[in-house]
Amino acid sequence: MLTFDIFLKILCNSFKNNHTMNIFEKCESNVRSYCRNFPDIFHRAKGSLIYSDSGREYIDFFAGAGALNYGHNHDYIKQKVISYLEADGIAHGLDMYTSAKEKFLSKFHEIVLTSKKLDYRVQFCGPTGTNAVEAALKLARKVKQRTGIFSFMGAYHGMTLGSLSISGNTTIKSSAIGTSSNVTFMPYPYGFMASFDTIEYIESVLNDVNSGIEKPAAIIFETVQAEGGVVVAPIEWMQRLRNLCDENDILLICDDIQVGCGRTGSFFSFERADIIPDMVVLSKSISGYGFPMSLLLIKPELDIWEPGEHNGTFRGNQLAFIGATAALEYRESSNLEQDVKGKELLLKKFLTQEIAPINENIAIRGIGMIWGIDVKNFGGQSFAKSITSRCFELGVIVECAGRNDTVIKILPPLIIDTTTLEKGCSIIKKAFDDCLSN
Ligand code: PMP
Repeated sequence: MLTFDIFLKILCNSFKNNHTMNIFEKCESNVRSYCRNFPDIFHRAKGSLIYSDSGREYIDFFAGAGALNYGHNHDYIKQKVISYLEADGIAHGLDMYTSAKEKFLSKFHEIVLTSKKLDYRVQFCGPTGTNAVEAALKLARKVKQRTGIFSFMGAYHGMTLGSLSISGNTTIKSSAIGTSSNVTFMPYPYGFMASFDTIEYIESVLNDVNSGIEKPAAIIFETVQAEGGVVVAPIEWMQRLRNLCDENDILLICDDIQVGCGRTGSFFSFERADIIPDMVVLSKSISGYGFPMSLLLIKPELDIWEPGEHNGTFRGNQLAFIGATAALEYRESSNLEQDVKGKELLLKKFLTQEIAPINENIAIRGIGMIWGIDVKNFGGQSFAKSITSRCFELGVIVECAGRNDTVIKILPPLIIDTTTLEKGCSIIKKAFDDCLSN
């Protein structure tokens, strides 16, 4: 029952929030984005729940856009971070040798690379995903002495100039005039293109001396286009892409920033196709705790950087190394991959049995713990927005993705418990019911 005390608290908080909201609107750049969709002030989070100043609890189906696969403030990782801070561990180290980096490299080598028989050198890049993408493009061009890059329609690789140039969304590119040179977009197996042999098309472009398109240094791809609307590449398509690169002396770069670190089940999302890319970019959940960290994995023979040729002050965030090592230890001691498979089934069942039957024009796509409800042909952008807004009112944080934001993208932390996952799903169903009855 709502007692007078609680009522007063909510009233005061709401007054305080309105007052403080103004400070954001008054002082922060117009560029701010997620806060517009989730208009509350958050102050605490645990596991898959986030709490706001106004006393509300939200189920997190967004997971920091994929940076919080292990949830918020994971106890095991947190203790390692706290102990490191309390021992006055090195907080900033450029790319000097530190014990935090030594431990991370050893663990990463042991449980990720060696156990999967992968031979990669690790390059620590600037703090965020796009920094690793820039490094990959630069290195690929240096190795092959060619300037061209093939990317895919619907791709998203980041917001700095090189990454933008290989991203498909033309709206976000409009302010970065002149960045599109030397990039050619190839069709991804999606929509109309899914019934078209896109690999054969790329082959014919490469083999036709009159195609007007030069051979690129590299092809960069996502195994699941997440921002592109949760589009899952078929296994055979990825295998043929790998062969095509081999046959044509082109490097294959996998951007595993959003769907790596276990999101699709295995640690790397390309493992399901049994292929080995020449370079891999990783970020988001690699640090385990939401700390900024990004990596470029490079086949040893491609590591032709001169010392310091790709530099930066914030490469190798020491706290991120601690978090990342702890996250790998947690992976070792838990059944996370198996767990993800179980929750994949739960999500798939919910979406195919509760959401898809609402209307035949609703499309469901996904794998592991990334799923999309595409309402492009059922209300479109405004309907998708009304669903995510209603979810927020009902206590679930979930965002829209894809072309014109018509896909409701479900991305819970991998560690979410089944009860909370089911509760979040039932709130999504209620949001559909509410929006359709209005
Ligand atoms: N690549 C992919 C696949 C991504 O999903 C993102 C971020 N959404 C990026 C690159 C860019 O990462 P960041 O925002 O950390 O620069």
